[in-house]
Amino acid sequence: MKKTVFIAMTGLSMLFAGCGGQRTNVQVQADAAPADFKYEVDEFADLQILRYYVPGFNNLTLQQKELVYYLSMAAIEGRDILFDQNNRYNLAIRRTLEAIYENYKGDKTTPDYKEFEVYLKRVWFSNGIHHHYGEEKFLPAFSKEFFAEQVKALPAGKVPVKDGQTVEQFIAMITPVMFNPAVMAKKVNQSGGDLIAASANNYYGEGVTQKEVQDFYGAMKDTTDLTPVSYGLNSRLVKENGKLVEKVWKVGGLYSPAIERIVSWLEKAQAVAENDKQKDVITKLIAYYKGGDLKMFDQYAIAWVEDLNSQVDFVNGFTEVYGDPLGIKASWESVVNFKNVEATKRTETISANAQWFEDHSPVDKRFKKETVKGVTAKVITVAQLGGDCYPATPIGINLPNADWIRKDHGSKSVTIENIMEAYDAAGAHTGFGKEFMWSDVEIKSTEEYGFITDVLHTDLHECLGHGSGKLLPEVDPNALGEFSSTIEEARADLFGLYFLADAKLVELGIIPNADAYKAEYYKFMMNGLMTQLVRIEPGKDIEESHMRNRQLIARWVYEIGKADNVVEFKVRDGKTYVVVNDYGKLRTLFGDLLAEIQRIKSEGDFNGAKAIVGNYAVKVDQKLHKEVLERYKKLNMKPYKGFVNPVFEVVKGADGKITDVKISYTEGYADQMMRYSKEFSTLPTYN
Ligand code: ZN
Repeated sequence: MKKTVFIAMTGLSMLFAGCGGQRTNVQVQADAAPADFKYEVDEFADLQILRYYVPGFNNLTLQQKELVYYLSMAAIEGRDILFDQNNRYNLAIRRTLEAIYENYKGDKTTPDYKEFEVYLKRVWFSNGIHHHYGEEKFLPAFSKEFFAEQVKALPAGKVPVKDGQTVEQFIAMITPVMFNPAVMAKKVNQSGGDLIAASANNYYGEGVTQKEVQDFYGAMKDTTDLTPVSYGLNSRLVKENGKLVEKVWKVGGLYSPAIERIVSWLEKAQAVAENDKQKDVITKLIAYYKGGDLKMFDQYAIAWVEDLNSQVDFVNGFTEVYGDPLGIKASWESVVNFKNVEATKRTETISANAQWFEDHSPVDKRFKKETVKGVTAKVITVAQLGGDCYPATPIGINLPNADWIRKDHGSKSVTIENIMEAYDAAGAHTGFGKEFMWSDVEIKSTEEYGFITDVLHTDLHECLGHGSGKLLPEVDPNALGEFSSTIEEARADLFGLYFLADAKLVELGIIPNADAYKAEYYKFMMNGLMTQLVRIEPGKDIEESHMRNRQLIARWVYEIGKADNVVEFKVRDGKTYVVVNDYGKLRTLFGDLLAEIQRIKSEGDFNGAKAIVGNYAVKVDQKLHKEVLERYKKLNMKPYKGFVNPVFEVVKGADGKITDVKISYTEGYADQMMRYSKEFSTLPTYN
């Protein structure tokens, strides 16, 4: 399971933090990015490309660096697999476009060529022809004639024709796939009709119906099996001579050329593993890639989740099932990372003091846990992204996905701090803060403390908030029905907000000073009352539970605090701003609301939940919404972001032994994509 940026807007400034001017680097990490580090790489369509810094890489041991290097190579090798999984023409289209890009001799300033470049960049970004988030096919804005002309002009052998096709036949096959909006319109279709037939992904062969898939896997399931494998996770299901057959993704099976290369890098990684436990993890993963046995995949997943002491860690394989409307088949992805020891100390400190926080929370004693255990979320530094985590990436990951493994062996939950840091830094130049914040005081405080307090709020939310409090005996855990997730998120957020302003955090040394919390308080109120509305279409209500929770909190404290003028809306030059007049009282109000939300949860008070959500969380102030949308539009911000990877370079001594691994951050977006397509592209065009 991934925390996408969209979902994780809870505590994170992300796009919304930015402020004008230079950003002060908060010392969250020992080795922060240099002041002149350039995060912004490129932008086109609705996308912005950033790069991320890898703090601490140079402090790893040589063996750890080598390990990161081999795992990083393994992370790039699966790129073609994902392209092919997303659509069966993706590799043909990408290779054709890249051939044109390399061989084009014409005028590069024409609208057709410019649009061609944008389209190619979008195909790279989405790992195919469908939008990475919306799943719908995006269309080229250059003409079919331009395309045909360029394909015909390519040198012999550069057009990836399908068995024996002429170039003309190839053009006739590929043109509607690219240009006709009705053909393969959606990668994943979740609504209506036969979901398999209506989805343009490549997880099922031609002519396979939804019912056939459901019957096929339904028959495999043994309901008495308490440790079931993830049926169908690693194969394409096709019809051969009228019979359904699984084409397993493994060495010797489908996608073998790419998987062989992944395995060869993993074998190198295995030789420099940090310890036996980690070696065992890699050994099991290799065995799974070789045999394709899903029981081995589970053994690997168990070994992985139990490997807690290694500093370097990774995900590599067929993992998430969002790309299949039936949630059976997994897309290939990889993340290589190492533990951010400094930042993990922070979450460990918070967890170690869980009982103190529980005892001092402002909720009724009857609803408190006598003994509470905090959860330690590992904070990691990403060193390489691959497959379905590249270029668009989550900021948190929680794996494995199999329910029984999670129950019996636990799961690993990680926060990717250097990705969050890159989002935050890039947001700093957007002018967002200048547009929406009341004065230089708020802007300055955000620059100084916005990132650290944001991260801390998320830590408190995850490590303590969700785990605090208890239900009264005999209260049904599902009593709050459709309001439960809004209430639960509000509870965790409020727990974090309340304690963010507590002297205890200064005492524990995890917040710089007693005023830093104001940055997060202001941002939370501005976001909840106003700026999060940029994600809502005009005239619509708020549906998503994290967004509901944020408005619920902000509106409630605003309304209740009105008598004391705690928070107010002020208008200047026709623009509305949120102003916090009394931070101390604001904290008290957060505490009061936490007590009430905990009461609703503990008592299972359905009507109470319904009333508070209905009164504060759902309805949008139409006039304010319109104004916010207009002001936001003028900022020209790109709604989606992704990343280029750093480049690793191996340094060898005279004896051929590796003496160092260097990291650099200068590769551009198109350069990286073209290099990957040359050096890491092993699959046939048609699989
Ligand atoms: Zn939460």
